Amino acid sequence: MMSMGDKCYDLHSHTYYSDGMLSPADLILRAIEKGVNVLAITDHDSTNALNEAHDFINTQQLPLKLIDGVEISTNWKGFDIHVVGLNIDRHHVAMTDLLAEQIERRNARALEIGQRLEKKVIANAYAETQKLANGHAITRAHFARFLVAAGVVKNVDSAFKKYLKKGKSAYVPPMWCDIPAAVAAIHAAGGVAVLAHPARYDISGKWLRQLLVDFKAAGGDAIEVVQSQQSPDKTQQLTKHAIEYGFLGSVGSDFHEPSSWRELGKGLHLPSAVTPIWQQWSL
Ligand code: AMP
Ligand code: MN
Ligand code: MN
Ligand code: MN
Repeated sequence: MMSMGDKCYDLHSHTYYSDGMLSPADLILRAIEKGVNVLAITDHDSTNALNEAHDFINTQQLPLKLIDGVEISTNWKGFDIHVVGLNIDRHHVAMTDLLAEQIERRNARALEIGQRLEKKVIANAYAETQKLANGHAITRAHFARFLVAAGVVKNVDSAFKKYLKKGKSAYVPPMWCDIPAAVAAIHAAGGVAVLAHPARYDISGKWLRQLLVDFKAAGGDAIEVVQSQQSPDKTQQLTKHAIEYGFLGSVGSDFHEPSSWRELGKGLHLPSAVTPIWQQWSL
């Protein structure tokens, strides 16, 4: 658990409104149990969890500050790059318009992923995966869960390795908006734009630096310096990058579901050399 002053921040998490496994209420209760004081819910291309989350906190009078967030998928040179928006006005038309387009793109992509799997691997992949997503933002994680449930692969990780990740047979190249469009919508909605998990993209150090240059040029405000299960090496490198390129620092678990290796609020200590993204928030 990280503490800054006396607060524990976790600014990246998911509910079942995208590929998380918990309801907003269960996510909030778990965050409180784990000592989180400030939580951002950042579902993939969706803000649909947020009303329910605020209602739950208000009616139960819970000791948790909820930050309205979103994780927008973008296409950068053919890579899926994630941009988190924090403290957004979830009702702003620039945001709702962009997310409506993104969800359409998700649906079109899901149809294509389904067709690829149905041709080569297993029948009914699209329909069955759609059921798992339950009408919410459909992701590759849902396809991975379907492949596990159908007995095609033994776990989610091998579903990605064998079929879903870039270069594999069911991978569909990103059709997402570009980075400038994501940053612009976040800013229009009054939020700050954060490059998500910079150390988790499958790109070289040289390309990562180019990504940081491009994100900065697009008006990006911050990068996630600290993630769950990130090596101290990586954190140190990202600390240097944040300072060098003039980014604020954010921290987040990217929590999706209870597991032994990723937990809300766990290990999220932002190095003091980086200016925290929450410094100018009045909480
Ligand atoms: P999508 O946004 O539809 O491309 O789905 C990406 C999501 O799949 C990520 O947010 C992760 O939650 C999950 N994911 C990506 N790669 C892996 C992996 N290797 N193992 C498990 N989950 C993954
Ligand atoms: Mn995810
Ligand atoms: Mn992500
Ligand atoms: Mn995420």
